[in-house]
Amino acid sequence: MEGPLHDGHGRRISDLRVSVTDRCNFRCQYCMPAEGLPWLEREEVLSFEEIARLVSLLVEIGIEDVRLTGGEPLVRRGFPDLVAMLGAIEGIHDLALTTNGYLLERDAEALAVAGIGRVNVSVDSLQRDRFFAVTRRDALPQVLRGLEAIAAHPQVRPVKVNAVAMRDFTEEEVGRFCELARSTSFQVRFIEFMPLDGDRAWRPDSVLTGEELRSAIEEVHPLEELPREPSATARVFRFADGSGEIGFINPVSEPFCADCNRLRLTAEGKLRTCLFSLRETDLRGPLRAGAGDEELAALIRDAVWRKELKHRVNEPGFQAPVRTMSAIGG
Ligand code: SF4
Repeated sequence: MEGPLHDGHGRRISDLRVSVTDRCNFRCQYCMPAEGLPWLEREEVLSFEEIARLVSLLVEIGIEDVRLTGGEPLVRRGFPDLVAMLGAIEGIHDLALTTNGYLLERDAEALAVAGIGRVNVSVDSLQRDRFFAVTRRDALPQVLRGLEAIAAHPQVRPVKVNAVAMRDFTEEEVGRFCELARSTSFQVRFIEFMPLDGDRAWRPDSVLTGEELRSAIEEVHPLEELPREPSATARVFRFADGSGEIGFINPVSEPFCADCNRLRLTAEGKLRTCLFSLRETDLRGPLRAGAGDEELAALIRDAVWRKELKHRVNEPGFQAPVRTMSAIGG
């Protein structure tokens, strides 16, 4: 098969996000309506064997890092078994997980043994009632126990805490998140709110920017910026007094598309070349119709070649994708 994956803009594509389910046990305001969304039928969702086959093929043609997402991946029955199947694929440098942490206390041991190398846990508030207000679940103590449980496995590093920054909400959380970053080994990152919410409530002025949060923090804690890794989504800073790291993922105010290396596979087998793609390539159909690796690889290469240069969130006429965050997987 030809050389490693590149898009039409010369970017090397080596990072794959795999959504293993569209289902979730939370109802976060910035993602999903209170009543939830119509879930995919069981047979519509890729089986573990289908996911493993596609991931294995994608690794063969250039993918190196794989992040497992959802919905909420831990609600998929037998998920640690899928991790073990993917962990056995040669050529994966990094096998990571993004979770809301609610089932992490239950699964931490199994995930660590199965080969998860790093974990991002979504926590938008460190105050119980405010956590409930965002997620519509009274689950903060359980999520914090999950963080402790996964942190107990030294082979799973780093463990990061991601907080979606929402105007007129997150400002009050900054101090608590700084304390978490300064008193634990968890790297805390704030993520700007993106126009991928199920309620379509996103507005440009609902974005609390990374810059605003950083300057609020610097009034109390001087920060020093760390060098940016290639294709990284976060700008990471360390507290000048040496205790901990804090980061800012600013897709709206400081897009990082120029060296994007990411590809996404949805739970029902659609390839998305950008978080904000308005088009998708179906892999499940050809896969279930008996397509060989060469045919599937050609479909993938063609889609990747036409990968979007960047998102157009800040441009007039921006059109949000029909698919919302919970069905993309971040
Ligand atoms: S918006 Fe699209 S092009 Fe930009 S960084 Fe995200 S996935 Fe890459």
